[in-house]
Amino acid sequence: MELPGGFLVEGRIQRGFRFKPVTGYLEMALGESAEGAETHPSQVTAALCQALQLLGDDAATVERVWGLSVGDRQFLMQRLSAHINDVRKWLTAECGACGDPFDVSFRYAELPVKAAGPDYPETAFSAAIGPLRLRAPTGADQEAVAAIEDEDAALTALLARLITAADPTREIDVSRLTEEEIAVIEARIEAMAPEAATHLLARCPHCRAENRVPVSPYGCLERPAGELYGEIHQIARGYHWSEHDILSLPRRRRRIYLRLIDRNRGMRSAENMLETA
Ligand SMILES: [Zn+2]
Repeated sequence: MELPGGFLVEGRIQRGFRFKPVTGYLEMALGESAEGAETHPSQVTAALCQALQLLGDDAATVERVWGLSVGDRQFLMQRLSAHINDVRKWLTAECGACGDPFDVSFRYAELPVKAAGPDYPETAFSAAIGPLRLRAPTGADQEAVAAIEDEDAALTALLARLITAADPTREIDVSRLTEEEIAVIEARIEAMAPEAATHLLARCPHCRAENRVPVSPYGCLERPAGELYGEIHQIARGYHWSEHDILSLPRRRRRIYLRLIDRNRGMRSAENMLETA
């Protein structure tokens, strides 16, 4: 599997990646990625640095993860959800036409992806102020504008980062671009950048209207940390293993032991019932 965009290393695009095996340690790191992260983009960066074994042909350093395009980062977060637990997820949506609630299901591994355009990650554009270079937005760009609350101001700050003069020795003033030019620039950047699906198209079963149902790419960050602690507690009680041993187990094996503990408990309560009967 490859990134829908990729990143430049010495002038060549790299698209490969590999996640680490899923252990309790990885799940704990994801659950705790919000601590110490001041903004959502920095939480995503922390989570990806923890989860990726390889990005391109090298380690997933913070710089490399910041430098990934927004679409690649969202794609990786969706694939990480599938990597941890590839099950069908259910959402309840409210129909925009008739207002009735309805259920939609999806799998993170099956969400559609739009590959980057041929000129990604940079394209040329000719404006009245001179020839320009346009770049696809990255995690670093998201982080830089994350604290700006006013939407228009955030967009201007973002464009100032994405647009540079074709001649790197020249400075440009983004505020001198016309509204029409900005509209074209936005469309050009959107066409060039890779995208991960952030919506599902689902038909309402009551009135048949088509709805766009939002799906967060960041589902794997939303798992309550308490669940994992509960699992560690159960296995520690059942087998008297250390926290380190339990967190080092691959998720699949942890789940097997939890089922065995559950079954054992079921058998014991059946025996108790027979004894008291
Ligand atoms: Zn409806």
